[in-house]
Amino acid sequence: MKIDINQRILSAHEAKTAQNKQLLAAKRIVTINLMGSPGAGKTSLLEGVMALLRPDLRVAVIEGDLFTSKDAKRVAALGIPAVQINTRGACHLDGNMMEGALDQLALDEIDLLIIENIGNLVCPAEFDLGEDFRLCLLSVTEGEDKITKYPLMFKDADAVVLNKVDLLPYVDFGLKQFYQDLTLLNPQATILEVSCRTAAGLAELAEWIKQCVTAKRQELARTAMQEKG
Ligand code: MG
Ligand code: ZN
Repeated sequence: MKIDINQRILSAHEAKTAQNKQLLAAKRIVTINLMGSPGAGKTSLLEGVMALLRPDLRVAVIEGDLFTSKDAKRVAALGIPAVQINTRGACHLDGNMMEGALDQLALDEIDLLIIENIGNLVCPAEFDLGEDFRLCLLSVTEGEDKITKYPLMFKDADAVVLNKVDLLPYVDFGLKQFYQDLTLLNPQATILEVSCRTAAGLAELAEWIKQCVTAKRQELARTAMQEKG
């Protein structure tokens, strides 16, 4: 008899994700799944945008990493509640790990939860963590060809953020090709250019995140009205 282990792992993950989703909605928490390659600047982006979000929103962060808690420490240093998930080598986060992390957060004190996924352009895209929005980060040093080489990652993104644009004069990044390929693959995505180093574009990114929170809250309010009848 042949057992399809992949299939079994996926359905256990899906069951947990459905549970996590319910919990997050009940607590009125808006969730963003932040994905991108190692070194794209995911943690730097969190550091850069936090000061712009915090006057309006209570933010918490879940940090996925293979082994260390370096990124969680960077976020916690800003005074943000941060939970570390160490996957011990696994290359993505799943519903089980998310459940463990949610257990450690004071959910009644959070408006916005940002999940920094494992640095990887492949399988994080296949694992729904119960997020409301997907934010994919690409940096100009990685090359514009990543859009067509890893289409699944960018196809389902709500926003694609291009980081390190201050380096554009020094690298062979095809900006025109990037926009062409991305709008063909995912015409709905919001596209933003930022530099975490110079802080360019971070105000626009913070604005997009705030709009996500507003949109999700309106949706929750509509659902609550419909349930009341
Ligand atoms: Mg990081
Ligand atoms: Zn993986």
